[in-house]
Amino acid sequence: MAVAASQYTEMTDEQRAITEMVHQFADEQILPNAEHYDREDSFPEPIVEQMKELGLFGVTIPEEYGGMGLDLTTYAMIVEELSRGWISISGVINTHFIGSYLLMKFGNDEQKEKYLPRMATGEIRAAFSLSEPELGSDVQAIKTSAKKGEDGFYEINGQKMWVTNGLLSSLVFVLVKTDPDADPRHKGFTCFIAEKEPGVGENTGDYAGLTVPPKIKKLGYKGVESTELVFDGYRCPPENVLGGEQAGLNKGFAQMMDALEVGRVNVAARGVGIAQRALELALRYSQERKTFGKPIAEHQAIQFKLADMATQVEAARLLTLRAARLKDAGQRSDLEAGMAKLFASEAGRFCVEECLRIHGGYGYSKEYEIERLYRDAPLLLIGEGTSEIQRMVIGRKLLQRHKI
Ligand SMILES: Cc1cc2nc3c(=O)[nH]c(=O)nc-3n(C[C@H](O)[C@H](O)[C@H](O)COP(=O)(O)OP(=O)(O)OC[C@H]3O[C@@H](n4cnc5c(N)ncnc54)[C@H](O)[C@@H]3O)c2cc1C
Repeated sequence: MAVAASQYTEMTDEQRAITEMVHQFADEQILPNAEHYDREDSFPEPIVEQMKELGLFGVTIPEEYGGMGLDLTTYAMIVEELSRGWISISGVINTHFIGSYLLMKFGNDEQKEKYLPRMATGEIRAAFSLSEPELGSDVQAIKTSAKKGEDGFYEINGQKMWVTNGLLSSLVFVLVKTDPDADPRHKGFTCFIAEKEPGVGENTGDYAGLTVPPKIKKLGYKGVESTELVFDGYRCPPENVLGGEQAGLNKGFAQMMDALEVGRVNVAARGVGIAQRALELALRYSQERKTFGKPIAEHQAIQFKLADMATQVEAARLLTLRAARLKDAGQRSDLEAGMAKLFASEAGRFCVEECLRIHGGYGYSKEYEIERLYRDAPLLLIGEGTSEIQRMVIGRKLLQRHKI
């Protein structure tokens, strides 16, 4: 008899083929090399080049623009497999995915034609930027501002923080304040498509006024760069207002919040991937390591850990795929995406810690992969809304849906 969950875990032939392909890619290209790039904190260029060849930068971009035209569910399956290899690799495509989502949903025809074909191949990559030095959770406190000049260009001034792919991206979808008097505040923000020179700290020419300081040193999530962005008189043409000036001015907050909903499914899939990898490592190590004359896997206390980890992985995967499938079906998924992000990121943290405990002292050694996972997993508790913020979102949505 089919289990009730099968409607969420079933794969089409296409999904199975692409997931197996990415799984193999992670086994052969990502896992053997992650330790090197993590240790050096250097960008995994050869892996990213292969991802371009596999078409992974255009998974959700429509075929008419050169992408694969696949849905969010398939994308989530791919992200799980990449993150099982190393969450930094999924980090390279995640902000790009959000940028392409913003363009597909809110961009006008000219913007789609200008950017999507080159984004689909990975020739240009995208970052997205909300956070600033003084804010992350409280997005409406954004201070970076844009003011229209007499020539029609918008001059952007201010400082952004924690921009993943901040250096190597060519486009930054950046949310800034355009109407300081707006009440409520969220009606005064605009999303600009800020173009820049990839890999350049001090932009010049058309992009002068945008500086990318040296990358931020982090606990984990190495390899993919996180940077500040300093806008100081950066001039953005009016056609780079997302959706066009007429449709997009002061509409940026709602656009970004919409994108964060799919972004949460994306982070949830990363949580599933890292939790799955921790489970695999724990299953292997617990059968190899012996104490008191038998493999530690034969001690009930260790079996309980494995049982809890496997249960968390399965539950996280189900929540993630459910949120993705609802979105693909055009149904409301804001509550479900929040639940998936909260549960799967916490499952990632739980599973890496249990795996580390199962490894005993060796878990604390750089010789073992779990050490990297232990440093990487906490990011998922923070990015795209902390667990506290997810609970606020979930609570608010629950009350909206069940208003008496
Ligand atoms: C490696 C990394 C990559 C990132 N990449 C990006 C990116 O590409 N683009 C981008 O825009 N941002 C990015 N971020 C930023 C990230 O989204 C923020 O760090 C996150 O939203 C939290 O904001 P904050 O750090 O300012 O914490 P704060 O908002 O200052 O929160 C501090 C603490 O207070 C809690 N808190 C805040 N408000 C409340 C409340 N109302 N009730 C209860 N508790 C509350 C939080 O949960 C947290 O525990 C990245 C962050 C990291 C670490």
